[in-house]
Amino acid sequence: MTPAPPQELPAANAQQLCVSCLALNDPATHFCRKCGAPLSSYASTGPFESLFAEGSVYRAAAERPQKLVVVMGVWMLFGMMSLAGVLLILIGRDTGFGYALGGAFMLAISLAMIWKTTRNYRARKQTDERHDAHVD
Ligand SMILES: [Zn+2]
Repeated sequence: MTPAPPQELPAANAQQLCVSCLALNDPATHFCRKCGAPLSSYASTGPFESLFAEGSVYRAAAERPQKLVVVMGVWMLFGMMSLAGVLLILIGRDTGFGYALGGAFMLAISLAMIWKTTRNYRARKQTDERHDAHVD
């Protein structure tokens, strides 16, 4: 006995189902017409695209910190990350070199981000203050 070839579902060919809201969409569209979620091959690249987008947000925050709240956010986020790095180094001391190396890497990146953001914010603030003084 030979197994029957899998039957193509006609409905799946005509319309594609949105994984987010289960709405039926035209097969030609790349984004859901109801909720805007990426469809078809776009869905697989979505997480990477959002990762790159997030990365650029962090880079912009570090290069041009406009507000103190951004600096505070960077301090909190990368402060936590540097603490995690220190923890990994401590764990790696007993368990393995890999953890310590990863921890050192995390710590270095976090401290670099904190230092860069703070330095840029201070430089910007001083320029603003000098500018204000000249206006008087
Ligand atoms: Zn949808």
